[in-house]
Amino acid sequence: MTENPLHAAPVILWFRSDLRLQDQASVQAALKTGQPIIPLYIWDETLATRPLGAASKWWLHHSLKALDEGLRSFGSRLIIERGTAQVILASLAKEYDVKTIFCSRTFDPAHEENDLHLENKLKASFLTLNRLNTSLLTEPNRVRTGEGKPFRVFTPYFKALQASGACDVDHLPENPSTDSWAAPAKWPHSQSIEALGLAPKLTPGGKDWSNGFGARFKPGERGARAALRGFLKHHLRDYDSGRDRPDLDLTSHLSPHLRFGEISPQRILLETDKAVRADNSLSMGTAKFRAELAWRDFSYGLLGQQPRLHEVNFRRDFDTFEWRQDDAGFKAWCRGETGYELVDAGMRELWQTGYMHNRVRMVAASFLIKHLMIDWRRGEQWFWDCLVDADPANNPASWQWVAGCGADAAPYFRVFNPITQAEKFDPQGAYRARYIQGYTHPSTGGIHKTVQNDLFGSGDTSPPSTAYPKPIVDHAFARQRALEAYKQRGQDDHAD
Ligand code: FAD
Repeated sequence: MTENPLHAAPVILWFRSDLRLQDQASVQAALKTGQPIIPLYIWDETLATRPLGAASKWWLHHSLKALDEGLRSFGSRLIIERGTAQVILASLAKEYDVKTIFCSRTFDPAHEENDLHLENKLKASFLTLNRLNTSLLTEPNRVRTGEGKPFRVFTPYFKALQASGACDVDHLPENPSTDSWAAPAKWPHSQSIEALGLAPKLTPGGKDWSNGFGARFKPGERGARAALRGFLKHHLRDYDSGRDRPDLDLTSHLSPHLRFGEISPQRILLETDKAVRADNSLSMGTAKFRAELAWRDFSYGLLGQQPRLHEVNFRRDFDTFEWRQDDAGFKAWCRGETGYELVDAGMRELWQTGYMHNRVRMVAASFLIKHLMIDWRRGEQWFWDCLVDADPANNPASWQWVAGCGADAAPYFRVFNPITQAEKFDPQGAYRARYIQGYTHPSTGGIHKTVQNDLFGSGDTSPPSTAYPKPIVDHAFARQRALEAYKQRGQDDHAD
């Protein structure tokens, strides 16, 4: 006779950056026990890891709400706690006679170290912490060079990743039936999601900075699946040729969903492969898209090699590089007032929507680092605070790539010309017009007249300017200055 699950001790299903119910190894493992489940989220500010940025907090707030709704549709609910994970887990376990906890691995070395410590502590109280991979195509240390070392160059990494079979997803384990969510005999007390204070506060003028985020994204598992469906149906075909065009906006916008684990990369590959099997004309787009997804795994491999990737140059010979202190330049860049339209449109897109197109991220980051010669860490931190997809691996790895101090980095002589980049990737100015009010492309009768300068709402006290700013630095001069500085630090690459 099987034990009535209502009387069995529950297991804890501890959610972290894996805020979904489907295709989720720890959910599946918890359901498989047949025991009641206490789904739990802990807002732990005591961890010595990087605090979430403001835009990410907005996302988390809505994602937790979506997760709770999903759980409630199965007769369950999300218990929210605030405090030190170890204390909360131990106390819940004691009260509910819990013996097993399931959670996901984050692959952030700072968390991993903490988890191992936690695992040992819990073991001493006869509690088992099961940590599973729910977020990457494969665990970073599974893919190694022939000499057993972690990869530092993407192309051979991607080949090895494919050879490992991690990208061949022809099926996913079936999700256990939804009526198997047994509830504990009594629910633990839960804080409200609102009490975590994650949603941005209104500015003194009563404005909500995050309005534009919600207009663009729908956080949560359902939003993630809808984004994937829309991408496969409308944009995958042209992804290869058009992914660099911010005006066409053909990319998947899955990054924040992946960041918070609302969809698995395996599900994305599976659905993409299904689509291409049904329509072979999608094959070029699919090949490119698969490679982009693999960059994410690659970045987590780099984070494993340099746990303080957002602070420490991957190439330590960059440590003596002399960055300029230029607060006015940094402010102009943050505000989208550099006088270079593509950079400014990108920085305004970031502020208004919590997102920026990849091509424009590269141009905007290159502008800060190479035109203004400002330390990449300042830009990385701004993105960290403003991006809804701010990712502990992808963000610093990409910034270091642009700066030239990362693994497999852009060559030092690649100084993106923001004017020609705009002409090439936003030929009619549609992207710039979207974010720079009053902008008109020269082909349709002239350049920007006035500019929308209420970007920072009443959160900023400086008076709004009324005209589009002049370039804050001359491109030719800035390019030469950057090349000289990079050459001086002994860079031996050859200029093109
Ligand atoms: P798609 O083109 O549809 O790609 C699909 C997925 O592949 C993305 O969602 C993402 O998970 C992954 N991916 C794509 N490009 C990259 C890349 N270069 N590196 C790693 N993964 C990639 N991406 C983040 O997810 N978070 C960040 O914080 C982040 N910061 C960046 C900062 C800079 C300076 C630069 C140049 C790039 C950054 N990227 C970051 C990478 C890339 O810009 C975004 O992943 C992409 O723009 C997200 O849009 P999408 O989901 O439509 O991408």
